[in-house]
Amino acid sequence: MQLLDGKALSKKIELEVTSDVKTLKDKCGCTPGLAVVLVGQDPASATYVNMKKKACDRVGFYSITHDMPQSISQEAIEKTIIMLNNDTNVDGILIQLPLPEHIDTTKLLELVEPAKDVDGFHPFNVGRLVTNLDGFVPCTPLGVMELLKEYEIDVKGKNCVVIGASNIVGKPMASLLLNADATVEICHIHTDSLKKHTLNADIILVAVGIINLITDDMVKDDVIIIDIGVSRTTEGKLVGDVDFENVSKKSSFITPSPGGVGPMTIAMLLKNTLKAAKINAKDKK
Ligand code: NAD
Repeated sequence: MQLLDGKALSKKIELEVTSDVKTLKDKCGCTPGLAVVLVGQDPASATYVNMKKKACDRVGFYSITHDMPQSISQEAIEKTIIMLNNDTNVDGILIQLPLPEHIDTTKLLELVEPAKDVDGFHPFNVGRLVTNLDGFVPCTPLGVMELLKEYEIDVKGKNCVVIGASNIVGKPMASLLLNADATVEICHIHTDSLKKHTLNADIILVAVGIINLITDDMVKDDVIIIDIGVSRTTEGKLVGDVDFENVSKKSSFITPSPGGVGPMTIAMLLKNTLKAAKINAKDKK
């Protein structure tokens, strides 16, 4: 069994981004900029935003967080997004999800200028991903593809089972795999007998948020496991969706959790923001 070390790869990517930022600054005086919209007091969201801000600082980006109270109106957030769309210091805009219930999340995601949509959630970028055209791809599934590439795991012709069908993880994950010529199955909460599907999988990519959802009796020998889920145990420990101790014994490759997909998500946010900045820098010439 070999670990797919997302922590190590993310560090390598950060060094590459840092070097590219220097080159961009020397060439045109441009500093890549990321704006984050954070609404409310959700502790997990605040932690994620803080991690993203620190990563921006490490690679030399300009970053700004618009911290808004839970009771903020839809209109006020919309005004902020329009302002950020027009701000030339901002190359990427990220709306930290989930938003409070009274907020129309879809409307806000659609308001973000597609060229600044570094999370890849705008329907324009979703459409480009599904049609296999260049655009912004959601960071978590993009990070998974980078991790597979780093370990020379070719998904072409492989049976890939994606568990979880959200717009931000499962569906874009399935699109990326299909674009890379994998045979893809998507399972979700209404899937009858998950095991029937997972037993046939060469690669299992699970993004659900249920501790020990995948156990060793559900996988075949030499399976490749990508554990995207994140949950907290009653003792406060962060864990994935896979019974790592037992499933790892049957796996050829497996991501640790934490230390697998999580760091790759942040690394891809940096890469997407750099990509947006490079495109904007061309426009400024
Ligand atoms: P979500 O709640 O939007 O979607 C969960 C999906 O799981 C749904 O499609 C649902 O149908 C499916 N599901 C629920 N119960 C199931 C079951 N018993 N069997 C099969 N499928 C089931 O969640 P999300 O935003 O896609 O996130 C999923 C998990 O991934 C969460 O644990 C989240 O914390 C984690 N996540 C991790 C990263 C990272 O960087 N590592 C990034 C995003 C999300």
